Amino acid sequence: MDEREKERYSRQILSPSIGEEGQKKISKVRVLQIGAGGLGSPFAYYLVAAGIKELTIIDNDTVSLSNLQRQILYNETQIGMEKVTAAKSVLSKLNSDVEVNVYKDLISYETIDKYINKQDFIVDCSDNFATKFLVNQTAIKHNLNCVIAGIKDFFGQIITIKPKKTACYQCIFSPPVTDNSMEGPLPVIGVTPGILGTLQALEVIKTTLALPNLENKLLMVNLLDISFNIIDVVKSDNCICSK
Ligand SMILES: [Zn+2]
Repeated sequence: MDEREKERYSRQILSPSIGEEGQKKISKVRVLQIGAGGLGSPFAYYLVAAGIKELTIIDNDTVSLSNLQRQILYNETQIGMEKVTAAKSVLSKLNSDVEVNVYKDLISYETIDKYINKQDFIVDCSDNFATKFLVNQTAIKHNLNCVIAGIKDFFGQIITIKPKKTACYQCIFSPPVTDNSMEGPLPVIGVTPGILGTLQALEVIKTTLALPNLENKLLMVNLLDISFNIIDVVKSDNCICSK
């Protein structure tokens, strides 16, 4: 680590739970991020600020006015731009030492494998159930650490998965029988993805450092009454992750 890096990350290096050794581990982490919206904005910000090695972002959307209420990566001058292009511009200015790769694509079971390249994590920052199951299955197939969060209104949930070792998303939830991607927009207060996306970045960092994380634990967040509840979950012998 050179002097500039020591200064840049000095406040987290000061943490007894991180130190220079921890920072070196963080600086080697490669993350594949699916979705660059409400969850993906703070997620990308905090990981790039923390000094990971590489962040690859996939998203298929363009920035619109109604995004700005919660998707804090973007601003009014970027309306109409591809989100991945706008995100790369912002994140590269924040920390030019982090390699930010972006792809405009609608991820599917047919296309996702080509983006798997030496990543340590795949993280779901999407806004729909179908993609969360896709990310979960991809994590199991390629043995990638995985963090999945979901939000609606003032509520959220998040889990971290170590494939084949801890409970996966599908151990807990059943895949949707109908395509819900055509449903209308869900209600959401911007702070909710702000908190859950930030927690996703925290999970990547803590998993990297082997600190206590949300493996086998589903964190349920209720921001109306400010309650954070952890539900212990167990890996299912009948699940795809046990085959
Ligand atoms: Zn499972």
